[in-house]
Amino acid sequence: MTDVCRWDVPGRVNLIGEHLDYNGGPVLPMAIDRTVTVKARARDDGQVNVWSDLPGAAKASFPTTVQPGEVDGWATYAAGTIWALAERGHTVTGADLVLESRLPPGSGLSSSAATTCGIASALDDLFGLGLDRTTIALVGQHAESGFVGAPVGLMDQIAVLEGTAGHAVLIDTSETPHLTRPVELEWEEDGLVLVVIATGAHHSLADGEYAARREECERAAEELGLEWLAQAGLDATVRLEDETLKARTRHVLTETARVRGAVNAISRRAWPQLGTILTASHASLRDDFQVSCPELDVAVEAALEAGALGARMTGGGFGGSAIALTAPEQVQALRERVEARYLAHQWSRPEVMVVHAADGAHQVPN
Ligand code: ADP
Ligand code: MG
Repeated sequence: MTDVCRWDVPGRVNLIGEHLDYNGGPVLPMAIDRTVTVKARARDDGQVNVWSDLPGAAKASFPTTVQPGEVDGWATYAAGTIWALAERGHTVTGADLVLESRLPPGSGLSSSAATTCGIASALDDLFGLGLDRTTIALVGQHAESGFVGAPVGLMDQIAVLEGTAGHAVLIDTSETPHLTRPVELEWEEDGLVLVVIATGAHHSLADGEYAARREECERAAEELGLEWLAQAGLDATVRLEDETLKARTRHVLTETARVRGAVNAISRRAWPQLGTILTASHASLRDDFQVSCPELDVAVEAALEAGALGARMTGGGFGGSAIALTAPEQVQALRERVEARYLAHQWSRPEVMVVHAADGAHQVPN
């Protein structure tokens, strides 16, 4: 136990395996070198105070007994974490929390998982709760699904907790707890970098459509008599009658195969092949799963026009970020190309950043 502590928690990009974490499929996220920092101090009066550097965020205060619906706005994720801990029987006596972010929020880079897992890790430290990483991941997920109302899978939390520098994390979501394995990424040794294009777009249908996709996938799995849609055989799309369910299933099946192909390409350092797979994933998310949007499509097109080996949307969709694999000397051309295409549409300027695979959540000496 300690009185004060500081945790740095990275965001993540998902390299490939999109919308598979609630379908029992494989996903391949990596933690990135952009973090949320949580500084925490224990209190004993049942009160939680949160300060954040998010634009427009004033101090938020709530009791440790906070319930869903009692806090809204930016502090919901913090309050949800306290609630989710209590739900699992881990009561804390109060805390002061200071949140500082180098991750643009709402960009599909999982500042939410960094926030919830960072707070849970800090409280674990302050109160000697003895939580393992799996429990912290579940607390973060429960905070988002049970308190904020976003029915997310476990990929983001695992990625931001278990990532290691220079590696992605391959997660098999069909097992409980999920099986994970590090996958070494060596494209930088071969003269390539991963670029994130944060579109700045966040379409309001994102949450409703995410829930709708989950429900469609569950329905397809049920019609096929499967626990997980990712386990469907190649005949699944023939056996389903509904055209929408067919298309959703086609994405889940082809994306599952693409993750295996991507892991194989990475192990052989076959970067053009990896690029082709990334771009194919985007087409599937756009056409079959229908979770892209014009801003993401244009970012991907522009990146490819600027010579990227491959590009795709990453994260839930309807805004957020795209990723592209390219040579460092082409990053500036990519940035200019994307900015020019956005300007032509009169969209606000996207943020283009090179990211590196980084370590997951870790405590930092005060
Ligand atoms: P993403 O996870 O893609 O960044 P979300 O909409 O899931 O987008 O999560 C964004 C939310 O996470 C913010 O609205 C806020 O509630 C919380 N959050 C992120 N960064 C911070 C921060 N620095 N301080 C407080 N809350 C934060
Ligand atoms: Mg999020």
